[in-house]
Amino acid sequence: MAMRLSTLFLRTLREDPADAELPGHKLLVRAGYIRRAAPGVYSWLPLGLKVLRKVEQIVREEMDAIGGQELSFPGLLPREPYEATNRWTEYGDNLFRLKDRKGVDMLLGPTHEEMFTLAVKDLCSSYKDLPLTLYQVQTKYRDEARPRAGLLRGREFIMKDSYSFDVADEGLEAAYQRHRGAYVKMFDRLGLDYVIVHADSGAMGGSASEEFLAVSPVGEDTFVRCEASGYAANVEAVVVPLADPVDCAATPAAHVEDTPDSPTIATLVDQANALYPRADGRAWTGADTLKNVVVVLTYPDGRTEPLAIGLPGDRELDAKRLGAQVAPAQWEPFEEKDFAAFPMLAKGYLGPGVLGEHPTAPGGSGIRYLLDPSVADGSAWITGADEPGKHVFDLVHGRDFSADGIVQAAELREGDPSPDGAGTLTLARGIEMGHIFQLGRKYAEALGLKVLDEHGKLVTVTMGSYGVGVSRAVAAVAEATHDDIGLAWPRALAPADVHVVATGKDQAIFDYAEGLVGDLETQGLEVIYDDRLKVSPGVKFKDAELLGVPTIVVVGRGLAEGSIEIKDRRTGERREVPVTGAAEAIIAEVRQADPPA
Ligand code: ATP
Ligand code: MG
Repeated sequence: MAMRLSTLFLRTLREDPADAELPGHKLLVRAGYIRRAAPGVYSWLPLGLKVLRKVEQIVREEMDAIGGQELSFPGLLPREPYEATNRWTEYGDNLFRLKDRKGVDMLLGPTHEEMFTLAVKDLCSSYKDLPLTLYQVQTKYRDEARPRAGLLRGREFIMKDSYSFDVADEGLEAAYQRHRGAYVKMFDRLGLDYVIVHADSGAMGGSASEEFLAVSPVGEDTFVRCEASGYAANVEAVVVPLADPVDCAATPAAHVEDTPDSPTIATLVDQANALYPRADGRAWTGADTLKNVVVVLTYPDGRTEPLAIGLPGDRELDAKRLGAQVAPAQWEPFEEKDFAAFPMLAKGYLGPGVLGEHPTAPGGSGIRYLLDPSVADGSAWITGADEPGKHVFDLVHGRDFSADGIVQAAELREGDPSPDGAGTLTLARGIEMGHIFQLGRKYAEALGLKVLDEHGKLVTVTMGSYGVGVSRAVAAVAEATHDDIGLAWPRALAPADVHVVATGKDQAIFDYAEGLVGDLETQGLEVIYDDRLKVSPGVKFKDAELLGVPTIVVVGRGLAEGSIEIKDRRTGERREVPVTGAAEAIIAEVRQADPPA
């Protein structure tokens, strides 16, 4: 049945919603696809639901094609399984927890590794029952700290999650590769410009992991790419190699110097150049200084720990890289009250002397101290002398100070060498659309998922976990395809194939349009039909542009001369076609491929 605008449950808005920042989000609300129910929680109106169902269908087809079996778990879950894997605690504030009337703890599922593992444990006992790939397309709940951009980061959202179960590691590798292939097909069909990047496996544990990122300036993820080698990684997953050691035989002994009023890198560099110019004539720069930053980690169980990080003064800490390194702990900057608790830390003049679990200076802080991998063994630095107004020069790593380990938390920059040693990196932003993980045996071990192998021996099953952001995909495609005047869907996702607009006062126009709509539907097309009688052509055209169906057909004044108009929403091209054969012309248009993005 055609969706008739005279009766469709739809009201388009001329004004942008106040709480939306991104253009795609604004348009989805204005075009009546979604409605906000609460922060990060959205209702799907008829047109939005159509698009969502199309994404789901594509995802299901590709999952079925690799032998996935669909099932569905509840969103409301018991605590025990999540307790067994420690995620009841590790998920921290992101988990929606609730109690039933008897006071029993429950949660709203953020992801379902535990439930799938337990189901397979119940139903499978032998290697003959495996391999197995199970999936669901289901609503997930995460109390995100910063719900954003409507469907892009919701607190309730729809995810396809699948899980593979194998006895042997090679089986897991094969299941992972099958999923990778299925995802390539899915995201191709969604028409997204995406990259596959190495990902941080973080709190999930496990080893191999990749993300599918839709390339987008509004993405929250940053990734690096190296043209020369093909290397691509989320910045969270980039492992900068340890700098080669340098010879410090010629470096003089470390010496403390007065550097008044130099609590920042910029002021320190100025003071160093003014008071202690280099013998070789080169100026000191931020890269000659070692900056020591302290943060406070808060673990999911509430425990806190200060952590100090030493990195070249010309680089900032990258919040996301650090976040990935310390997960599941969260980090926050060190504040005045924290400095007050550690009087040996001279703010602005902090040096490695008082840092580390085994500080070299008496009265050290005992704070764990990690170094950026670019701080080479044998390299000399200007850094804080732990006294206001003083810095130490020629302090050599490995000779005069050492750390408790290294940390991959410094910002990455355009032009940095690629970690694989070939070429340099470029940076761009992306929206995480999918994530594939080789989990290994972590969950199976925690929940006791074992089967008998061919020798009759009990072995722990190895698992993979694979997610796609289904509702996020609707938003990502909207962000990628909209233009100034409205949504502009690719054919695969549009809520209809054709939007027929009847304009004018002449009854013949509406009679003809009615017949055309019927013909198109008989031919299997999905049609939106603007049959509203007392609405001006201008409003109808604006609505058609806003709704974003790729083919717009206008039945109006031209009908008297025997023609109607076909308009391509995305290219703006319009052409008159004769009434005879009009339906065929429209069908041919609809069957065309999408224009290049
Ligand atoms: P992010 O880093 O964006 O928070 P994640 O790594 O926590 O995502 P996964 O646990 O890997 O997400 O979930 C699988 C997929 O579910 C993601 O790739 C993403 O497409 C989608 N997704 C995750 N969180 C949300 C959310 N809050 N709203 C919408 N989609 C989400
Ligand atoms: Mg992820």
